[in-house]
Amino acid sequence: MRFACLGSGSKGNATVIQGDSLTLMVDCGFSLKETTARLRAIGLSPDDIDAILVTHEHGDHICGVSTLSRRCKIPVWASQGTSDYFSEDDIRLNTINVHAEFLIGELTIRPVPVPHDAREPCQFVFRTKDHCFGLLTDVGTINERILAAYESCEAMLLEFNHDRALLMGGDYPSALKRRVGGEWGHLSNEQSCRFLQALLPGELKFIVAGHLSESNNSPEIVAAELSRLAQKYSYRFEIAAQHSVSCWYELDNLCR
Ligand SMILES: [Zn+2]
Ligand SMILES: [Zn+2]
Repeated sequence: MRFACLGSGSKGNATVIQGDSLTLMVDCGFSLKETTARLRAIGLSPDDIDAILVTHEHGDHICGVSTLSRRCKIPVWASQGTSDYFSEDDIRLNTINVHAEFLIGELTIRPVPVPHDAREPCQFVFRTKDHCFGLLTDVGTINERILAAYESCEAMLLEFNHDRALLMGGDYPSALKRRVGGEWGHLSNEQSCRFLQALLPGELKFIVAGHLSESNNSPEIVAAELSRLAQKYSYRFEIAAQHSVSCWYELDNLCR
């Protein structure tokens, strides 16, 4: 299994996950032109995508989904609450039960319902016979159920949205500060580090920090937090960018 991040942050998100015979995209918050260009950077074209999973209806995750799905006839999977957002009847839409695992090709997919201010948001854990990768962004609070869902992940794309002091001391209007920092908002660096400390030491060997706020966080701050934690636990990490595409991350190489 391998994955690549086409972009991560409030201006657009998309992650590509590849098994032996299946290429799956989670969310598409970019235009078709932008998605095509970003896919090209990892050697793919939109026609290579077999399925699109959508985590929730916020624009940075969903705005490119309909066009991509329609143009390239790619089926879409989403929760009932997220599915309600699609009005087009020419999209092949599969509604998922967020409390039950399902299969697409060789990938076993576990939806993880999360507290976030959307209709029925869920994040995902992907399993093949050899590997386990988890995606977790756009979540306000970590609870026991979420922790348990990611316990066996060897690699994760995990939200590090904001530095709490920067958010609170910054110039966002107070309602937005409350929304982002609240229980239905986004994970702070501190919350994500606490989540990692609860998972480590365990299966987790590789972490990509994602969905960083451009106003209330920085790759340097996140790298410092992750380096500090890495002195105690053994793992590697990368930081996903908003404006550039990552390389392919191969679980075979990174999670030995
Ligand atoms: Zn988002
Ligand atoms: Zn969101």
